[in-house]
Amino acid sequence: MKNENKLKCPMCGYEGKRKEFMYIYEATIYLIDSNVEKEERERPVLVVCPVCKQGFFLDDPYFKFKTRELYKDI
Ligand SMILES: [Zn+2]
Repeated sequence: MKNENKLKCPMCGYEGKRKEFMYIYEATIYLIDSNVEKEERERPVLVVCPVCKQGFFLDDPYFKFKTRELYKDI
């Protein structure tokens, strides 16, 4: 069974806890007539490996929710 609390880097093979990795959310803000419009499109979360510093994407549809759970106290 897959360990849900661990992530494996596809670049270097490092396996660690989810919170050891860094996450980058890309967002674009549109300015229309001085109003800020939020982008409609959902972008994937880029995960950055703490060892090789390379970024990769996850296909886990629940990942965003899990990450939010992980950082809910921050
Ligand atoms: Zn790596």
